[in-house]
Amino acid sequence: MKDSTPTSSKNAARAIGIDLGTTNSVVACVIDGRPQVISGDEESALLPSIVYYAPDGRSLVGEQAGRFAEHNPERILSSVKRFVGLSADEAAAQPLTGLALTAVATDDQARIAHFDLGDRSVTPVEASAEILRALAERARAAVGTVGLTVVTVPAYFDDAQRQATRDAARLAGLPQVRLLNEPTAAALAYGLATRKSGLYAVYDWGGGTFDFSVLRLAAGVFQVKCTSGDTALGGDDIDRVLCAELLGALGFDEAKVDARSVRKLLQTARSLKHDLSREPAVRAQMLRADDTEVTLEVTREELDQLVLPLLLRTKRIVRRALRDASIELKDLDGVILVGGATRMPCVISFVTELFQRAPLCDVDPDRVVAEGAALQADLLQNRGKDLLLLDVLPLSLGIETMGGGFERLLARNTPVPTSAHTVFTTAADNQTGYELHVLQGEREMAKNCRSLAKFVLSGIPPMKAGKARLHVAFCIDENGLLTVTAKEATTGTAQVVEVVPSYGLEKAQIDKMLLEARALRDNDIEARKLAEFQVHGASLVNSVSEALISDADLLTEAERVEIVGSVERLRRGLKSEKRSLLLELLLEDLHALTASFNERKVNRSIMQAVTGKDLRERV
Ligand code: ADP
Ligand code: MG
Repeated sequence: MKDSTPTSSKNAARAIGIDLGTTNSVVACVIDGRPQVISGDEESALLPSIVYYAPDGRSLVGEQAGRFAEHNPERILSSVKRFVGLSADEAAAQPLTGLALTAVATDDQARIAHFDLGDRSVTPVEASAEILRALAERARAAVGTVGLTVVTVPAYFDDAQRQATRDAARLAGLPQVRLLNEPTAAALAYGLATRKSGLYAVYDWGGGTFDFSVLRLAAGVFQVKCTSGDTALGGDDIDRVLCAELLGALGFDEAKVDARSVRKLLQTARSLKHDLSREPAVRAQMLRADDTEVTLEVTREELDQLVLPLLLRTKRIVRRALRDASIELKDLDGVILVGGATRMPCVISFVTELFQRAPLCDVDPDRVVAEGAALQADLLQNRGKDLLLLDVLPLSLGIETMGGGFERLLARNTPVPTSAHTVFTTAADNQTGYELHVLQGEREMAKNCRSLAKFVLSGIPPMKAGKARLHVAFCIDENGLLTVTAKEATTGTAQVVEVVPSYGLEKAQIDKMLLEARALRDNDIEARKLAEFQVHGASLVNSVSEALISDADLLTEAERVEIVGSVERLRRGLKSEKRSLLLELLLEDLHALTASFNERKVNRSIMQAVTGKDLRERV
């Protein structure tokens, strides 16, 4: 592979970009200066974001996991991204897509959402890590060592969701991770960063969600001006309405039809939908309720009619978002289409009409985010920080005040990186500790905001109430992650906390899981070796035993006794030995003892082959 990137050599780690999607995930990297999506073994660039957990503890991702959908749907996790970084209560409020979710209380405030698979439970962070690991594997197979990785997140993701995504990347063993907003990645893929300024709308319709954002570009910096959307409006909903139509046409009673038939028909609906993006009409063979076969034709117009109500919902979201941000259509310099569902011709024409201009859609809408992420990763790793991408805070950040109020330190929509500080004092005489409660939200009372962290600044010298000066500083880095520093001014007592949201995984927990993952990987390698040696050993026992009979005359009695002993030891080892190393030694022993016997056998068979045969036959 030729590489024109000046600073990277062939063996250097390659920067990659990952679009970790609700429905599909994609990995890309920059080759010869251009972003390219990396396909997997199955030739597909899109990795379905689903994970199958086998009863023996192993897991499979993507199409491989999908093969179990028919028979083991209860062991498959899908749409995991919807649950990442949510508390158990928040997760319980999400629409479930065929997976069981239980809340596991870990301590007073941190309640982590888990998926319950019966014999084990899995956190959304762990499941996301499986997907990231599979994508990193793909990248490794294609380009070698993976370096800096940019993982995209929706612009509306809050601190907890971003932190959880980072946790997942760490758990997946990615060494250096940066987060990037999905709409910003799309704008980068269109090369918009090279322009001086502009205002761009990003209309992203994926499998499960609709996201709309407006970005402002100024002096090489993107700011998210507004984000809006519907987390329960996606291409899957199109599948559902088309499936309902098909059920009717096939004579099924929607109330009575079994889950398996619905699942199959949903798949048919999806593939008809995909084909209708290319063809004006498609036909498919289906089974009627009475089990007779029928060929149904669906036209693009019919599908368009079904999609229209969903499109109108996206229109209301777009209109409201633009109005709230005081942006007029004429202010926009471009509209970018993102997400698989925007491949439908009716979506393209709807968006054209809605924005009164043709949208940018020549970069494949389901690859555009990964490509932008790859460009950014390459830029960060190989060309320094020429480009600083600013995002804005999705929600205000602050602390709880006396009486349970919420004091904002950083307002919503503040561009990051940023910092702010405030000064507090003690409420009681001789108060030596002060509990800081870090919150995120837009409500006035602390109890209505989301709790991110609690910590105590201790060691305040005894003073009269109101005398102590407590400086609290919030600092947000370029990934949107928060560090809180609290300091007592007179003594300099300080406390620094990197805010790991209550519902994320604790650092210690992640380290433990990383260690376990590593240990498991070693176990896997050992198991594979053991299996290989067992197969090899069994065939060696057979072939040597046969040769001991057929070629007995080639051995002295002493040699024969030695070989028989070695065969016996290997035979016993194969039955009972659980360590690959010992099997390997037994195999080596037998190989060594039979080396000269083998040579003699080979010589004899060559002699037999040559004898009585025409020389020309041997050439
Ligand atoms: P996400 O961002 O949610 O992971 P994607 O951007 O990959 O999802 O979009 C997935 C959705 O796009 C699915 O509902 C899928 O059926 C739909 N989709 C993909 N290709 C097409 C197509 N050619 N025509 C219509 N819909 C499509
Ligand atoms: Mg997406």
